[in-house]
Parts: sequence; structure tokens; C-alpha cells
Amino acid sequence: MTAHIMTPAEVLSTYWRHGTLPVDPVSIAQAAGIEVIPFSPGKCEGASGEYIPTGPSGRPVIHYNPTENINRIRFTVAHELGHHFLRHGRRMRDTREVIGNRNDFYEVSANRFAADILMPKDYVSILINQRNVTSVAELSHILGVSTSAMDYRLKNLGYYSF
Ligand SMILES: [Zn+2]
Repeated sequence: MTAHIMTPAEVLSTYWRHGTLPVDPVSIAQAAGIEVIPFSPGKCEGASGEYIPTGPSGRPVIHYNPTENINRIRFTVAHELGHHFLRHGRRMRDTREVIGNRNDFYEVSANRFAADILMPKDYVSILINQRNVTSVAELSHILGVSTSAMDYRLKNLGYYSF
């Protein structure tokens, strides 16, 4: 298991070479040797996800909450991939409050990583500028993210500002 930091671009070029959309963070995790497992029933109250650097099998483990919607699960798994590839080590369980804490460097950087994985800048540009996809709803559908995540990403990439 390598221990160096990998950028989102490196992760995509290493574990998502075919580049099809939507990007599947579970496939990326599995290709990287990470187990992706739902929380046991009754053990996920309030939690969206969790990253464990060394699980019972000796491999890293990502837990997700199977009761959340698919886009939320995809974002959570991508966020946990951020904790893994940015080498954050063992983190507290990720509740929505933890993930949304903008004062926590690790959470902010894991969210940024997730956005870069699920909504790669170059792919977004191709969809908008070459394929003329201009609706946030359609973009979010193609990329498998919520419309609010897509909206936030487009603002961050400078497509529009308020
Ligand atoms: Zn987190």
C-alpha cells in the first residue's frame, strides 16, 4: 500500500482510466484495494460515512449509510476517498455536521477532493462547452450528483457568480 498523497487527477488517471461518466467512487475504491461496506443496521444513526485506514482484514475500509440516497452515498464515498488519498489517517465518523464543518481543514479538503473526483473540471468543461449541456439538472444527472452539489461546483469553477 503506497503511503504518498495522490491528487484527484492522479486518482482518476490511475483508477478511472476509461473516463466514462458518471465516475463511480466505489469502483475507484475497490480498484485501490479499499473495502466499501455499508454500516451495519442500527450502527449508522446520524452518520453518513467513515474511513478506517486499517480494517479487520488489514485493508482500508470505507463505511457508508445505505439508508441515504444514491447521490449522497456517492458523495460520501468520494469524500472518504479524500481522507484516504490525502492520508488524513483515522478520522471521526462523518456525520452531516462533520462533513459540513467549514472550519475543519480535513473535512474541507475531503469535500474538495470529492468534488474533483465526481465533477472533474475538464469533464464539466467538455459537457458545457462542447456538448452544450447548459442545465444544472442535466449536468447533475450526467455526473451523478445532487443539483446543490453541482450548483456549488459550477460557482467554484467560475461558471457564474452571485
Ligand atoms: Zn470527513
